[in-house]
Amino acid sequence: MLSVNNIDVYYGDIQVIYNLSFTVNKGEIFSLFGRNGAGKTTTLKSCINLVKTTAGKITFEDKDITHMEPHEVCSFGVGFTFQERCVFPMLSVKEHFSLVDRDSFGTRNVNTICNEAAEIFPDIAPLMDRNAGALSGGEAQMLKLAMVFVRRPLPRLMLLDEPSTGLSPENVTRFSEKLRDLKGKVTIVIVEQVIGAAIGITDHYAVIRDGAVIHQDKVSDVKKEEEVVQKLILGHEA
Ligand code: ATP
Repeated sequence: MLSVNNIDVYYGDIQVIYNLSFTVNKGEIFSLFGRNGAGKTTTLKSCINLVKTTAGKITFEDKDITHMEPHEVCSFGVGFTFQERCVFPMLSVKEHFSLVDRDSFGTRNVNTICNEAAEIFPDIAPLMDRNAGALSGGEAQMLKLAMVFVRRPLPRLMLLDEPSTGLSPENVTRFSEKLRDLKGKVTIVIVEQVIGAAIGITDHYAVIRDGAVIHQDKVSDVKKEEEVVQKLILGHEA
């Protein structure tokens, strides 16, 4: 479904991703783990060409998307959130939801979409008239995530960069349940530094260090796998 093959990425003259490859199967949750600066976000951004690859190939549903414009990749059914705040400060939360999905406004109106967002994150319901610029970090995170999940049709591939950042433990649990419900229907790639937030719902994962994949596996025993990943991130595997 998503196949990243031998990609290299540079920022200016500095190479940060080296010959990196992984494959994500349809309907699964795939996690990319690694410490700060390992290259997780860069890898995710390269999937929609927000950063350019200088070598390698990326395919989505067998289409070569390596050099396509980000909006083109998204129009094929890819949704994403990144760590940047990415909300329009002068627009209200409700106005954000009115931007989500103009194509399906024949069957849904903005109030329906707002209600759907509040089903995912009830904490967002009282914030509908607040300008996004006045949201806390966690509230802005809920808005960004909800904007992906209220799209219709749902994206077939979601790329989520540290989705648990800023969320309360209760909202992390709610959100994990939402992702679990979508297994089999949507393919999800999650970047996380906090392994515990993602490993329990992950099917396959890769660990990145210094811009290269150092380990990939399937999660069969969550506790065992969490220890393996933790050791790899800390560099204690030897
Ligand atoms: P974190 O968990 O801290 O978000 P990460 O694993 O997502 O880290 P990246 O953000 O992909 O790591 O960064 C990989 C490397 O690329 C780091 O050394 C970082 O300093 C560098 N880098 C990231 N963005 C840029 C940029 N815009 N210009 C130059 N270097 C960058």
